[in-house]
Amino acid sequence: MNYIELKQHLLTAQHVVITTHKSPDGDAIGSALGMYAFTQLLGLEKVSVIVPDPDPHFLHKMPHHDVIQFFSEQSEEATTCIANADCIFLLDFNTTSRTGNDMGAVIDSNTTAIKILIDHHQQPDTFDYMLSEVSASSTAELVYVFCKELAPEVDINLEMAECLYTGLVTDTGSFKFSATGARTHRIAADFKDLGLDTASIHQSIYDTNSFNRLKLMGYALSEKLEQIEGVPATFISLSQEELQKFHYTKGDTEGLVNYGLSISGVEVTAFLREAEDRSVKISFRSKRDFDVNLFARAYFNGGGHKNAAGGRVEMSLTDAIEQFKTALSKEWNS
Ligand code: 5GP
Ligand code: MN
Repeated sequence: MNYIELKQHLLTAQHVVITTHKSPDGDAIGSALGMYAFTQLLGLEKVSVIVPDPDPHFLHKMPHHDVIQFFSEQSEEATTCIANADCIFLLDFNTTSRTGNDMGAVIDSNTTAIKILIDHHQQPDTFDYMLSEVSASSTAELVYVFCKELAPEVDINLEMAECLYTGLVTDTGSFKFSATGARTHRIAADFKDLGLDTASIHQSIYDTNSFNRLKLMGYALSEKLEQIEGVPATFISLSQEELQKFHYTKGDTEGLVNYGLSISGVEVTAFLREAEDRSVKISFRSKRDFDVNLFARAYFNGGGHKNAAGGRVEMSLTDAIEQFKTALSKEWNS
């Protein structure tokens, strides 16, 4: 990537837009707001952060959260913003359809802006400038690398560190997943050197359960965790009725999928959630060699990483469970 050229584009841009993917997680919001903080340090005047749909409540305390415009809530203004942008950052996704069909179409067709992708998912589409590293722990890690390369003279501040640290923590399972590299820890150390209060960030991510959320997790683990015969795999499914019984709100099932993989000997797990529109959103996780990115792409209109992926299907929850069991038995034994 030609950072000198890109820096010129950014410094002369009238309007910069920062985007991320649908159903945003900590890495998506942390990367977007971390990049926003950086644009403020660079002195850029007009910067918008446009996110397809709302994020879970445990991210709402992040610095600059109030600048986010949600496309699902303000689609006209957001469309105008994207259409008039000179530069658009595409963060934590590899293809514009990950922002949803409507927002994706605007990014694809309604703008002549320069597009800058910073991402760690496999097989990215091609954009004007790209920092794509599949082995990176998180997009937040790459945003940090990008900012240091683009403007080494800019000292990052605590707000930017807080946002990016949230991305590091959430995408690495608190520095546990195998993509956590020496660079990941070095960046975290830089944030510590700045004086970042990391304990309070962990607390606001992980210790903000509602009573209902914890009850829902308990129910899912005690009543809904199942094993698949003949395959070292488990899964959990939750219907709309079950979710509503526990007054489900966005983010309540965050992390639930990981429990199924924490069982000794289990290599693959899934969490299937019936959405309000009756489609089924599925999260996949695996250990070692089983590639859930390929699996999600082949059977569930999805994708992601080798050991963490997701997808969505338009069918009943019962059919989605059957499809998962059948496809997994086939792929595991092939
Ligand atoms: P999660 O299961 O936490 O929603 O997502 C795990 C990983 O899979 C994330 O990196 C996410 O970007 C990716 N992912 C989740 N859902 C989808 C999907 O519907 N399509 C694609 N391509 N990737 C997904
Ligand atoms: Mn990510």
